[in-house]
Amino acid sequence: MPKCPTCTKEVYFAEKVTSLGKDWHRGCLKCQRCQKTLTPGGHAEHDSKPYCNQPCYGILFGPKGVNIGGAGAFVYEDK
Ligand SMILES: [Zn+2]
Ligand SMILES: [Zn+2]
Repeated sequence: MPKCPTCTKEVYFAEKVTSLGKDWHRGCLKCQRCQKTLTPGGHAEHDSKPYCNQPCYGILFGPKGVNIGGAGAFVYEDK
């Protein structure tokens, strides 16, 4: 049984969402900074915790953060 990276409890099939190669509870796939619900494959991750790409990941981990996963790599550009 996979373990949810957010709460470290086991993830059962009925409540599973897969994103960035990990299995999460549907309710646990939310930004750890702003609590916004995230779309599988459409968010960043740091230290196994999910964050939204903008603005939280950029704010917390710098403007050059890279998200590798889903359909491709997401690289932040300097504004
Ligand atoms: Zn969870
Ligand atoms: Zn956020």
